[in-house]
Formats: sequence, structure tokens, C-alpha cells
Amino acid sequence: MSAPDPATPTPLALIVDDDPTIRLIASRTLELSGLRTIVVSDGESGLASFEREHPDIVLMDVMMPGIDGYQAVETLRALPRGRHVPILMLTGLDDLDSINRAYEAGATDFISKPINWGILGHRVRYILRAAEAIEGMVENQALLASAQRVARLGSWRWDFESDRMRWSDEVFRILGYDQAATHPGVDALVSRIHAEDRGEFTAALQSLRAGGSVDELIHRVVHPDGAIRYVRIHTESLLGEDGRPLQAFGAIQDITENKAAEQRIHQLAYFDRLTQLPNRQRFLDNLSVALEHASRTGRMVGVLSLDLDQFKRINDTLGHGVGDRLLVTVAQRLRESVRGRDPITRLLPGEDSTLARLGGDEFCVLLGDMNSFQDAAKVARRILDVVQRPLEVDGHELFTTTSIGVALYPMDGQDADTLIKNADAAMYFAKSQGRNNYRFYGKEMNSRALERLALESKLRRALDRNEFELHYQPKLDLRTGTVAGVEALIRWHQPEIGMVPPMDFIPLAEDSGLIVAIGEWVLMQAASQAQQWSAMGLPPMHVAVNIASPHFQQPGFVDFVARVLRDTGLAPERLELEVTESMLMDDRATTLDTLKRLKAMGLRLSIDDFGTGYSSLAYLKQFPVDTLKVDRSFVKDMPDAGDDAAIASAIIAMAHSLRLEVVAEGVETEAQLAFLRERGCEYVQGFLISRPVPADQIIRLLPAPRKALAG
Ligand code: C2E
Ligand code: MG
Ligand code: MG
Repeated sequence: MSAPDPATPTPLALIVDDDPTIRLIASRTLELSGLRTIVVSDGESGLASFEREHPDIVLMDVMMPGIDGYQAVETLRALPRGRHVPILMLTGLDDLDSINRAYEAGATDFISKPINWGILGHRVRYILRAAEAIEGMVENQALLASAQRVARLGSWRWDFESDRMRWSDEVFRILGYDQAATHPGVDALVSRIHAEDRGEFTAALQSLRAGGSVDELIHRVVHPDGAIRYVRIHTESLLGEDGRPLQAFGAIQDITENKAAEQRIHQLAYFDRLTQLPNRQRFLDNLSVALEHASRTGRMVGVLSLDLDQFKRINDTLGHGVGDRLLVTVAQRLRESVRGRDPITRLLPGEDSTLARLGGDEFCVLLGDMNSFQDAAKVARRILDVVQRPLEVDGHELFTTTSIGVALYPMDGQDADTLIKNADAAMYFAKSQGRNNYRFYGKEMNSRALERLALESKLRRALDRNEFELHYQPKLDLRTGTVAGVEALIRWHQPEIGMVPPMDFIPLAEDSGLIVAIGEWVLMQAASQAQQWSAMGLPPMHVAVNIASPHFQQPGFVDFVARVLRDTGLAPERLELEVTESMLMDDRATTLDTLKRLKAMGLRLSIDDFGTGYSSLAYLKQFPVDTLKVDRSFVKDMPDAGDDAAIASAIIAMAHSLRLEVVAEGVETEAQLAFLRERGCEYVQGFLISRPVPADQIIRLLPAPRKALAG
């Protein structure tokens, strides 16, 4: 008998027997084997001391007064601690029937009387060792089950011969089965797999059955309530000695949460949070796929680069909240205008592979599989159209436009980066060409940039060299039939190039800051010309001067205007300043203040190119302006083109309701004149009356001074 290990406590045996001799010998024998013992003489006291002492093993006699051994074992097994404790029954009877009854009652083993005392100790120690192993197993199993539950991982075994399956508890939960009511099996497993994934899944099972191996499957499982879970399945098959497949083992894990996290990470990495459109990275991926496809099919791919015109202004004046919502709306409109295009390059189902937000107010459109460059032009026009529709954000009625550059594969670049770069260049070119339009990329764009640089250096010298001149265009008062005033329009006679139109150099002057000096020259020149006319005795009329935004924003602007009036002696009501709608949006408080100071000085103020910006008429109420100049584009197709005519009529009516006078620009035909007159438009300006002409020619357009004086 081995000495007890000091680390493990001495096992305790409970001996229940009504025979005092057996009790004595049994207890002595076991103590010699290194156990402690408790002895009792009947079933009831056996149960009581079991509960009190928690013995490690029970030796139970069968025949006893009171409850017999079978009953005592049954009762003991029902106790929480009694389930796994080893029980050795001392059956006096060596017949099969009583041995069966002992096992049925829950005995671990039996030993029949007369007892062979020499082996009892060994027997008991052996049973204890086995019990320990079983206890360990039970513990492991419980541990495994809870580990499986925590990991949402189930395991199953499939025996091919019997076609029976065993599932761990977690498998039932993962598949959404009630464990008590379900018979685990291949059919039950397959029927839970999403219909779209089922084919692949059953094929994998068949391959397992044929002895093949399946590494990893990711499938969707559909629960009875319709919930969809993602599961990952690993399998392994066991072959017999003859190489025939015997069994398959599998682990099934619910990875729905991981999947969701994965998708979230993917979303964050590849999609813009504000508009949910793909981001630059994603767009590059989509574009590369499209290019690869196009190189095989020989089709064209178009890249459209978009930038909202004057977005910064809206953002700065109305706040980022409004700016953000504007971007979301624009994204929505872009989706509409490219909808229906076949996204052959779609990487993910449901993904908008044709669009992306590259950052700020920059968007990109990908046109895969184009037939001709006309396709790109069509989409570009549609985008210009939808973007310029007025929109309302937080009670502000906004108008925005966009400039678009188009680059085409294979002509304008072979790879994604080059195409985007060239589409960008085309977009900047479109912007320099007056915004709200689109341009195709062309090699000459780089030479254009150089030209621009050369022009800028010429512009720097133009003032000193006296290359500027002012022309004047009369404005006719329809009520009196007289010239109410003139608009001063700058002309640049560049010795090498010839005549450079203002639209070609004013934006350049604005960008380079030269506009301030040029604008000051124009103001001074126009005012002194008006004063001269007045001194000549011409009928009273005002001179209108266009003011560029950077000039207007100068802190000293109002002072400079005052100086001009002082130096020239011109009456303030003879000077009109034309500002554009978009200037009113710049830093509203300061703009309003500047306009009020100018108004207080007695100047006339008008809003030029009205209808092309994004402010609404109602918004203008707060500004102290006298006239609105309806943009030429509305007058152009009048009176035939329904929309423009209707807009012009509406602008006139609304302007009147705000007590503003209206000037129609670009009037070229009698029909236009008649139409405007009918609608009560106060002034017209245009080639029909006169082109802009040099100062000396203005006199000829007016009644002779002497006659006027005489009259
Ligand atoms: P704007 O202020 O709207 O000037 C009206 C433009 O329309 C002028 O072009 C004029 O020549 C043109 N126009 C007038 N009547 C007709 C017509 O019946 N049909 C057509 N097709 N066009 C007509 P211009 O002189 O080329 O000036 C273009 C723009 O350049 C001006 O538009 C204005 O924004 C700017 N600009 C001109 N002079 C100055 C200036 O001295 N300072 C500043 N800051 N901008 C100026
Ligand atoms: Mg003007
Ligand atoms: Mg105008």
C-alpha cells in the first residue's frame, strides 16, 4: 500500500453496512490502504453522513433494515454532490439480477460477499483513481462547453457509416435550434444554410464524405425568425486504416459580430463618412478594375473630376453645417445623374462604384465601358444641370454650380493616377473658363498654363504702359427713352496680342491681386470722365463701374471711393457701383457694412449678372441696393425660350416688389425689347441700343448739349 501523497488530502470512505464485523474489517482494511473512514449501520444515516462529510467514495450494503441499499443509492444519486461520487455496492448475492439492479440504481461497481479482503483496498483505490479521471473529464467538458459558448464556437462529429451527427450545445444555438426538440443531422444542418450558399455547402459536405478536405467555409445561416448570422466552418476528416473516410469533425463559429466589425472597418477605410460615397482609395481601386476590364474589351473609360464653384464661400459664410448638408445634397444629385449606368466594376454588391468624394468639395465620377467621348459629355451636362438646381438648406436658398474636367482612357492616360491628375487639370481649366461648365483634357492645357503665366507678367506692366482704356455702354431708360447712364467696361490693348477681352484677364487680375490697382484706375478714370461730361453740359447721367470682389474686400475701399469723388468733384449720385451676387455672400456682416457706408455717401448700387449666383431675391432685401441687372443669359433666348423668359419675368416682378429697378443686359433684338417693356423693366442695355464705345463716341449718342441746354 503506497503512502498517501501529502499534497492530496487523504480520501474519505463512507461504509454503510448493518453487519458490525464487516464495518470493522472494511474500515480497518481501507485505513491500511491509506484512507480515512466513517462507518454507519443503515441507509438513512448513510445519506445523512454523506451530506455532512462529503466522502470521496461510498461502500453500500444491499440488505439493511430501513431503506435498502438500492434505494439509498438512488436517493444519493439525486443529491447535488451525489451525482458523480463512486459507489461500490456490497452485494451479498452473486446473481445477475441483483448486479443489474445495483447498476440501475446508480452504483459505480459491485463487490460480492463474502468479501475478499485482500483486494478490497486495491479495488477502492482503483475506483477512486477512475473517478478522479472522470471528474476531470466532466470538468473539462463543462469548461469546453462554456468556452464554446463564449467563443460562439460549436463542434460536431459526423459518422459516415451510420450517417449520424453529434453536435455540441453551441451548435444548436448557432443554428437556432431548440436542443430538446431537434435531432441533429446533416439535413438539419443544411436546411439552416442560406439558400444562396447551400449549393457550395452541400458540395463541401460531399467532398468530405469522399475523403477530401475542406479548409474553411464562410456561410450565412438563417434562423427561423429570419435573422441572418455569418458562420465560419472548419472541418477535418478521419480516414480508416484502409484509407476509407470514417468520420468528419467540424467546428462552426458564429462570426456575425466580427463580420460586422470588419464591415465597419471597411466602411471607415474606403467610404466617406459624410456622403457615404467611396473615398479616394476606393475610387482608385474601382478605377483600376475598370481600366483592366477596358484594356481587355478595348472600350473607353472616362474620369470626371468635379469641384463645386465657390463652395468655400458658402462654407465660410453660412457655416460648416450648411456646407456639409450642401455636400450631402450634391452627392445625392450626383447619384441620380449617374444612376442606371452599368457599374461593371462594382466591387461590392450595392456599392456605388461610379462615384467618389475625394475630399472637400471634390467629387469624381467613373464612366466605365463608354462607346464614345460623347457619353462623358452627356453625363457632364446632366451633372451641371442637376447641381445648379436651387436647393434649400436650413432655410437658406442656395445655388451652387460645379466645374468638371474629363480625362479619357486610353487617350489621356493609362493608369488611374494619371487619369485623375489630368481630369483635375481639365477641371481647373473649366474653372478658369468661367465656371459652371466642363472641359475635356487636352495636351494644350499645360501650354495654356504657361500662356497664363506670360499673360500675367504682361498684365503687371499694362498699367504703367497705359495699355488700358475704358469703353462705355449706354443704358436706356424705357420710360423716358433717354440714356440714363453708362457702364464703364475696361479694354486692354496689348501691343503684341492685340485686344484682350476682360473675361480673359479680369480673373487673372483677381487671382494675382493686380485687380486692386486696375480697379482703382478704372474708378478714377470713369469718375473723371463722368465729371467731364457733366462739365460739358450733357444731360445728367450716371456712370456704372464694375467692382471685383478682391477690390471690394479691401479695408480701404470706401475711403478710396470717397477720395475719387473728392479728387474728381463728381456728385456721388452720378457714380454707380456694380457688385455681383456672390460678393454679397462673402463675409456678410462686413459686406453689408461696406454697402451701407457707400449708400450713406449717396452712391447708387446695383447687382450685376443677377440670376447666375446662388442667392435668392428675398435674401437681397437686407442689402441697400437700387437696381438689379438681369443676366444676359436670361435675355438671350427671350421671348421664345419658355424657361428663361419665365425666370426673367419672375425676377422683374419680384424686384419690383422689393422696390428695386431692373436693368436687362444684353438686349439685342426688338422682340426682346418689347417683351421687357411689356413687363415693366425700367432699363435696357445691349447691342440693340449700342455696343460699348470709347468716351468720345458717347456724346454722339446723346442729344446735343447745346440743344439740351436750350431745351
Ligand atoms: P458685365 O459687367 O456683365 O458687362 C456686360 C458685358 O456684356 C460686356 O462685356 C458687354 O460688352 C457685353 N454686352 C453688352 N451688351 C451686349 C449684347 O447685346 N450682347 C452681347 N453678346 N454682349 C453684350 P465685356 O465688356 O466683355 O465685359 C465682360 C465682363 O468683364 C463684364 O460683364 C464685367 O464682369 C467684366 N468687366 C468689364 N470691365 C470691367 C472692369 O472695369 N472692372 C471689373 N472688375 N470687371 C470688368
Ligand atoms: Mg457690369
Ligand atoms: Mg452683367
